[in-house]
Amino acid sequence: MSFASLGLIDPIIRTLASLSYTAPTAVQSQAIPAVLAGRDVMAAAQTGTGKTAGFALPLLQRLVLEGQAASNGARSLVLVPTRELAEQVHDSFKAYGASLPLRTMVAYGGVSINPQMMRLRKGVDVLVATPGRLLDLVNQNALRLNGVQTLVLDEADRMLDLGFSRDIDKVLALLPRQRQTLLFSATFSDAIRVLADKLLRDPVSIEASPRNTTVKAIKQWIVPVDKKRKSELFLHLLKKHGWRQVLAFVKTRKGVDQLVDLLAAKGIAADSIHGDKPQPARLRALERFKAGEVRVLVATDVAARGLDIEELPVVVNVDLPIVAEDYVHRTGRTGRAGASGEAVSLVCADEVLQLAAIEMLTKQPLQRKDEDGFEPEHRVPQTNAAGQIVKKPKKPKKAKLAQGEAKVVQEDVRFRR
Ligand code: AMP
Repeated sequence: MSFASLGLIDPIIRTLASLSYTAPTAVQSQAIPAVLAGRDVMAAAQTGTGKTAGFALPLLQRLVLEGQAASNGARSLVLVPTRELAEQVHDSFKAYGASLPLRTMVAYGGVSINPQMMRLRKGVDVLVATPGRLLDLVNQNALRLNGVQTLVLDEADRMLDLGFSRDIDKVLALLPRQRQTLLFSATFSDAIRVLADKLLRDPVSIEASPRNTTVKAIKQWIVPVDKKRKSELFLHLLKKHGWRQVLAFVKTRKGVDQLVDLLAAKGIAADSIHGDKPQPARLRALERFKAGEVRVLVATDVAARGLDIEELPVVVNVDLPIVAEDYVHRTGRTGRAGASGEAVSLVCADEVLQLAAIEMLTKQPLQRKDEDGFEPEHRVPQTNAAGQIVKKPKKPKKAKLAQGEAKVVQEDVRFRR
């Protein structure tokens, strides 16, 4: 299938050719005709499926063929959960619309609002924004949303996870009732379905890859280890495998800083990206990583979504995420657009419930590989893909304990979800 057969116009096709996009991805071939036809869309698509072009290309085409922006207005609005994703999605709009006479803009908090207000004076065709800053702009009378023809909610599940539900409701109240709405989400929880029911009219449903599954091309495994030896094991694996570049996830900001300091002390170029860091510093760290100046980028979950780094071979979960869905998003950083990658998780005994929840969500047990010299003192209990911890008895030390320990106890962890 070609992009032209989906109904895209020549200037866009030429731009895609210059980007070496030869054929549409699965989500693109389904979404593009639907969006061009003005339909609402509900798409289960995670990063790496090409979803951004799936909504950006037809949106740009519709905008260029009809109408123009009113001052302080936006013709289409793309709501995203994080600043990083906002930048990335806006970059995509700029790249795909390079030859089109359209005004695009990105707006998020943590940076001065004045330049954003100035840019809005003439109005924009595409506004990519995080919910909080968007509402600030409306409250400052810099932006009116009554001319929005298309609303895109990108990574809607993440938006709800980050507590944007009320902000989203406020934004919706400001939009015209008559509009096109596109909802993209990596996972489909009950909360997302409720939101979809409220927002979408007779939507075209698109499922790019089976829901709640990680990208197949990724080789995934876990290494059981004691909590206190995780950093040491990380250094060991980095050296052993000779990984060129690694994106490492750590639970806390403090943990991120500690790992970066340790790597720096060993002469390994590392930088960090987390929510408490000022936005320019986060972007700088990301740019340095993309440019290959930094070998290890250590991040908290805030940064997990929206990082688009081409050819990233390895993601290491130094800590498992608290929310199982985040595992899918994290591993989505690698193996993008068909490339193969590796996702390694360093798992300690405390994290067994998180491990079981991840295995249940992805419906696959993660392969365990013990690392010589790092076998944990605190054993990580066995898990199965049904979200259960299988407590296998240790070899009894005394004969009289043997009878009580010899049965397999299963603990249900479904409540964790
Ligand atoms: P996304 O899922 O939108 O974050 O896109 C994932 C990556 O795939 C991005 O780096 C895109 O530039 C790339 N991409 C998207 N569509 C295509 C395509 N049709 N052909 C080649 N690469 C693509």
